[in-house]
Amino acid sequence: MVYSKRIQVATSGRSDLVNISAEVEAAVGESGVSEGIALIFTMHTTTGLFLNEAESGLLDDIEKALEATVPRGGSYLHNRVDNNAPSHIQSILLGASLAIPVEDGSLLLGTWQSVFLAERDGPRRRTVHIKVVGE
Ligand code: ZN
Repeated sequence: MVYSKRIQVATSGRSDLVNISAEVEAAVGESGVSEGIALIFTMHTTTGLFLNEAESGLLDDIEKALEATVPRGGSYLHNRVDNNAPSHIQSILLGASLAIPVEDGSLLLGTWQSVFLAERDGPRRRTVHIKVVGE
């Protein structure tokens, strides 16, 4: 069985970390799949996806680490196009997809794992694709 869904995520600010766990879990529920894999995918070049703890201090720490690793004030060739080279590079560090096991009709997530969409060039309306494959 294969079930596909697209969800819209409204982000706020130039950078934003949005917890989309509930939307992904809902898609798994709608899919009817009890054993399989949920693939979560963003087609944007300035967003990323990651799994981690939904603790506000940690999310601030992650923001700071991304900005420190690829600073906005650096010198980038792509900035002459649309002034967002760090947004692209930060998104590469995070990756564009996640694959999460589905067991007993739910995402198999650790106690402290949540699914996040990382906005690096917002605010915008983003589309996240979810594909649930299994039986
Ligand atoms: Zn660009």
